[in-house]
Amino acid sequence: MLGNTIDFRRSLLRWYHTNRRDLPWRVARENPQTATPNPYHVLVSEAMLQQTQVATVIPYFNRFMAAYPTLRDLAKAKEQEILRLWQGLGYYSRARNLLATAKILVEENNGKIPSSLEALLKLPGIGRYTAGAIASLAFEKRAPILDGNVARVLSRLEGSTGCTSGASRESLWQRAEELLPKKRVGDFNSALMELGATICTPRAPRCPLCPVQKHCAALAAGVVDQIPPAPAPKIRPIERRITLAISKKDVGQECPTYLIEQRPPRGRWASMWQFITIEAADIPPTAQSLSERVGLSLSDVRHLGALQHDLTHRRYQFQVLSCRAKSSKNPLPKDRRWVGLDGLSDFPLPRPQLQVAQMISSIIRR
Ligand code: SF4
Repeated sequence: MLGNTIDFRRSLLRWYHTNRRDLPWRVARENPQTATPNPYHVLVSEAMLQQTQVATVIPYFNRFMAAYPTLRDLAKAKEQEILRLWQGLGYYSRARNLLATAKILVEENNGKIPSSLEALLKLPGIGRYTAGAIASLAFEKRAPILDGNVARVLSRLEGSTGCTSGASRESLWQRAEELLPKKRVGDFNSALMELGATICTPRAPRCPLCPVQKHCAALAAGVVDQIPPAPAPKIRPIERRITLAISKKDVGQECPTYLIEQRPPRGRWASMWQFITIEAADIPPTAQSLSERVGLSLSDVRHLGALQHDLTHRRYQFQVLSCRAKSSKNPLPKDRRWVGLDGLSDFPLPRPQLQVAQMISSIIRR
């Protein structure tokens, strides 16, 4: 256990004061002890940081703030604009929840982000961790947080080699709460996360540099590398898809246009856009079978390449084919569009579809 909790808090906060990273959503380093960060910045950064590294989030956060400097600006945004800004960051339900939260707060709370855990937990996409982070970081409320970094740090400090789910997770939440100081709660929670992100890392933690090493039971027992225990290997079901770069070039057109479609409003990559994508069948695709499946007359089918996209519980494999569409007088359904490669930047595309666009453009340039 941590022995002297007061000494632990002091050591951690002193280290944080000198070593914390300057991040765009944090208060400027000059005056960290007398100011709290902008709650809107905390809300947006915490949404972006779920399952995502700080270095990846920084440019997204800066672009987002340039487009929507306040919660009221965000509440007026269109979902497609938000998805476009979020493009490549993944877990797009976070973006939709953020927009829904902004609208609710403007309509029902005078555009203010609430400070209590209770009120925060009622907002879309805000769970126990995010509510604790906003309440403590932005409002100095005595609320604990427990993300992957903090769970690992606390488990190592306690020398607990068990897993960090179920009942063990609940006891870590309790521990996170017991450790909270009366003042500088936001800094304390940030310091725990910072320690996990920069010193007490999942692999090869830098224990000689750790400000709380004298409180660490795992270090004393020589079991640091056993915490957390190695996860069981993941078996991801494979989903096979065919993505079609269907092009057409009308008379007088300099560059071809490609057919894209909007995904359904629910489910993975909801409402985002993609090249025409269908489930792979067991028989090799032909111009005739593809024409029937996509409802267009297609010719000149060629293999362009293959892509793999891994999600936490699923692996997608895309076979990418190019083909030409014969001209048709039939109007397009409203969820389909012909666009040039330059025009794709107006549409939010999931990462594998961006890779398809890159594949097409590199082939055109050859
Ligand atoms: S001593 Fe090592 S294992 Fe223990 S908290 Fe510090 S960095 Fe983590």
